[in-house]
Amino acid sequence: MTTFDLFGVGLGPFNLSLAALADGVPGLTCRFAERRARFAWHPGLMIPGATMQTSFLKDMVTPVQPTSRWGFLSYLVAHGRFHDFMAARFDCASRAEFTDYMAWVAHGLESASFGEAIAEVDHDGDAFTIAGASGGRWRSRALSLGVGLVPRIPAFACPGTGCLHAAQWLDRAPSVAARRVVVIGGGQSGAEIVLDLLGRRDPPAHVTWISRRSGFWTLQDGAFIDQFFTPGYIAAWRRQPGPVRQEALNEQKYASDGITQATADAIYRAVYDRRREGRRDVVLRPGREVRAIRAGRRGQVIEARSADGTVECCEADLVVLATGFRSAFPDCLHPLAARFRQQFDGSLALEGNYRAIWDGPRETPLYAMNHGRHSHGIADAQISLAAWRSAVILNDLTGRPLFDIGTDGTDPALVDWPGAAPDPLARDDKNATSAGPPPSRRIVSTAISD
Ligand SMILES: Cc1cc2nc3c(=O)[nH]c(=O)nc-3n(C[C@H](O)[C@H](O)[C@H](O)COP(=O)(O)OP(=O)(O)OC[C@H]3O[C@@H](n4cnc5c(N)ncnc54)[C@H](O)[C@@H]3O)c2cc1C
Repeated sequence: MTTFDLFGVGLGPFNLSLAALADGVPGLTCRFAERRARFAWHPGLMIPGATMQTSFLKDMVTPVQPTSRWGFLSYLVAHGRFHDFMAARFDCASRAEFTDYMAWVAHGLESASFGEAIAEVDHDGDAFTIAGASGGRWRSRALSLGVGLVPRIPAFACPGTGCLHAAQWLDRAPSVAARRVVVIGGGQSGAEIVLDLLGRRDPPAHVTWISRRSGFWTLQDGAFIDQFFTPGYIAAWRRQPGPVRQEALNEQKYASDGITQATADAIYRAVYDRRREGRRDVVLRPGREVRAIRAGRRGQVIEARSADGTVECCEADLVVLATGFRSAFPDCLHPLAARFRQQFDGSLALEGNYRAIWDGPRETPLYAMNHGRHSHGIADAQISLAAWRSAVILNDLTGRPLFDIGTDGTDPALVDWPGAAPDPLARDDKNATSAGPPPSRRIVSTAISD
């Protein structure tokens, strides 16, 4: 049996980035197995008109290897659309076009294989052994888990004919015509489904949008928010103790998990127009936590409570759980479950270089994608730093500085985060005997100590 250098389980954007960068590493033998027959990216939520929340330049490779053949711009050129795309002046690419780009990469890579669900990953003492659901067997020195998150189903919900998770919205394509639809969840998925419902040619009789959040919060945006999605911030984050990280995660919630301004505005305007026309078929209910769904005489009864304790009920023929996704211990890793350190939510505990912490040999690392919300911050679940993470992994795996991952500490970070590596000027200051640091540096130091 061939022993690969790297075997990837799952081929969503995160392992795809790793596979695309690994493609240019001479001598590295890789295989990436995806259970779907073709590349797809959250197909159940590929609602027409949905746009990326991330710049198309933060693609699978460009942030660390702009000369790679697998960048978004190469895709545009290969499809003869570069000039037309640029002339369109999109702020962000559509999710459909970015998915088509990723599919182009995925199906162009020799290391990628489709229709191959991985059932079990074990270890024989020297290497990982990988078993496919349809009988394939492989061995690999290193493993990269990129199987994504799982839909979060609240305890009060029982998905079935009248209730589904947002992830299945387009796959199940439930009939909505003349039905009362309740969407639970005030994030981007909930917003996109509400917008979809408001634009239907076969309109629902009534739409209620319920969110536990105190308002329909839009995504925080801007240059300083984008700093949370930089390698420098991750380095500083890694030096923070657990409680400080938790507080930061709460505070940064809407930097990664809010509704895009465009989607929020489009919903608002659609509701405004309906009200102007005298229609009262949309109810927006933030600040309510759904506690129970029970069967009523004329459909499902959704019981929700607001912060002041008021309980309100509404009826639905169809309930959509736009309740997000959660980390979980990967099913296929169950033979090794006792050997990995897990976080409180079942995700794998990670070292800084994305190695999962376990008792196996260091020569056979297992890297985990999308398990680092606590260890690496909000950027971990986003595409922004996917290429950088892949570069960190490949440098670690090969033991060679294949990619510049910006950790040589020669350039002070634009923002001096608490816990960030001391910048060289500060070091000069400490060691200075006669010549001091530039005056501007002195002023900054004074401000900080104040
Ligand atoms: C609707 C939506 C839109 C988003 N938009 C953005 C955005 O614009 N910008 C941004 O930065 N982030 C965005 N995100 C967040 C993040 O980028 C995505 O969740 C991203 O898909 C995560 O990639 P992944 O590779 O970890 O997981 P996934 O995309 O979930 O891919 C995992 C893959 O693994 C496969 N798999 C699972 N188990 C196995 C197995 N046992 N064997 C083989 N294959 C397996 C699955 O079939 C799947 O293809 C979005 C998330 C959602 C839900």
